[in-house]
Amino acid sequence: ENKKETLGFQTEVKQMLHLMVHSLYSNREIFLRELVSNASDAIDKLRFAAIDNPSLLADDPHPSIRVGVDEQKQEITVSDDGIGMTRAEVIEHLGTIAKSGTREFFARLSGDQKKDSQLIGQFGVGFYSSFIIADKVTVITRKAGDPADAATKWESNGEGEFTVENTTRDHFGTDVILSVKSEDRDLVSKYRLRTILQRYSDHISTPILMGKDEYKDDKVIDTGEWEAINTGAALWARPKNKITEDQYKEFYHHVSHDSTDPLCWTHNKVEGKNEYIQLLYVPSAAPFDLWDRENVHGVKLYVKRVFIMDDTNQLLPHYLRFIKGVIDSEDLPLNVSREILQQTRDLRIIRDGTTKRVLSMLEDLAANRASDYDKFWALFGNVLKEGLGEDPTNKERIAKLLRFVSTGSEGKADVTLEGYISRMKTGQDTVYYVIGDTPEAAAKSPLLELFKKKDIEVLLLSGPIDRWMMQFLTEFQGKKLVNIAKGDLDLGDLADKEEKEEKEKVQAEYKPLVDEFKAALGDSVEDVRMTLRLTDSPSCIVTDPNGLDPAFVRMMKAAGQ
Ligand code: ADP
Ligand code: MG
Repeated sequence: ENKKETLGFQTEVKQMLHLMVHSLYSNREIFLRELVSNASDAIDKLRFAAIDNPSLLADDPHPSIRVGVDEQKQEITVSDDGIGMTRAEVIEHLGTIAKSGTREFFARLSGDQKKDSQLIGQFGVGFYSSFIIADKVTVITRKAGDPADAATKWESNGEGEFTVENTTRDHFGTDVILSVKSEDRDLVSKYRLRTILQRYSDHISTPILMGKDEYKDDKVIDTGEWEAINTGAALWARPKNKITEDQYKEFYHHVSHDSTDPLCWTHNKVEGKNEYIQLLYVPSAAPFDLWDRENVHGVKLYVKRVFIMDDTNQLLPHYLRFIKGVIDSEDLPLNVSREILQQTRDLRIIRDGTTKRVLSMLEDLAANRASDYDKFWALFGNVLKEGLGEDPTNKERIAKLLRFVSTGSEGKADVTLEGYISRMKTGQDTVYYVIGDTPEAAAKSPLLELFKKKDIEVLLLSGPIDRWMMQFLTEFQGKKLVNIAKGDLDLGDLADKEEKEEKEKVQAEYKPLVDEFKAALGDSVEDVRMTLRLTDSPSCIVTDPNGLDPAFVRMMKAAGQ
């Protein structure tokens, strides 16, 4: 156990290291943001552990993060008084990538530096970004609660291997020491680091300290004292008018690991019986694991500024899993296990309130920034559609947020149900739609001929999600939504008298032909009918009005059902 071991990095880590050094060099400053963010996470974890075991904070009730510079040795050190790691944890956390979706991530890499660097950004570059500027990284860490001589030293040059050995450390926490590459020595400067930190890390709720300098006779003298360079208060707990737009964006980059700016955000203090703060963002880029249903992170739950969990599934319904941000409750019990917390009524109230808040934010975006809403729709529209089935309470609000392509929209997905209803013909009391495998197929359906002739708008839907969604969306604002592929579609008042008479006449006339078709097709069809619905095509296949949509049947068959 006490011996020095040399271990190999997991293959994915090697790939990640290679990518980072080659794709992110132009963003090399991010190493500092990532290390400070890890230090801040580690202090959050210590505060959480101290709820059950207050002695962990007894020594040092005000943990801090310290950023040091050694110009002689060309080293940068980031130290924290956080939870620390055991030897086994060091090997696991700094030798492998445990994140779900890793395989998917590597599969998505294209070799195109620009695209890949965005992907890395979404993945959260983390600790390994140290190797962008360091040719050797040393970590000295002691787990909170462990004795001073049970600390661990980890070291690597970022190539294929790392070493671990036993060491001592005076206090709990972690030091990350970077031996900076010769070409990056411009970063070994207090001034540079301070500027970077002020830009990236002001929202961090723990004080970040740097050595205090004094100027004497034009010379810089290190006073040996530390001074805080950030506000040191949780951003979301500050008054809205004290937060700049840039600070909001920077905080987003921190919680989301996304380097692009958010599309919009909402920041509120909910008062009353259940008090909590919400700061929620809509990203402007889709994460690579958007369709991963199991592990959804990005909305963090705090209780009175103490980090509790980062499991979006508990805090929002699944169809809002693209949301990032923070919820901070004043009332939830602090000293309760995460499992029990998940079942408390208070958490459900927060979840419902947060859902409504997100819907308002989207309604706002749709009403006031249409082109940004279009962007949102293109990225997350298909996720939002899941809400029609998942969240019956808010179905009407979600339905209003939907955007459709229609026979009148020239391929653009900008038709709302309300807009459609406002354009309905006199006598029309139904919203018509058709579903194809692709948008093109939907637009070419022969079923549309009659509607074209009568100049009635039809929504053009496509794909399995639309098909699934329409099972739940059968009515909107008192109007039925009807698939024009279903059975003997009754156009009601829209069909004029002459047409009805014509239909009866033609039906009688062609009865012998229809009977012949019936005899020839036998059991493979349920019925054969004459129709006036087609103007250019000779025939088409429809389904029983109470039966399944034909494309849906095809999809289920393809899925082996
Ligand atoms: P992430 O922070 O997204 O989990 P990182 O690569 O940044 O990914 O860090 C990997 C893991 O290493 C962290 O989840 C944490 O468990 C551990 N770790 C990194 N830095 C520290 C630190 N300063 N103190 C304690 N644990 C740390
Ligand atoms: Mg990290």
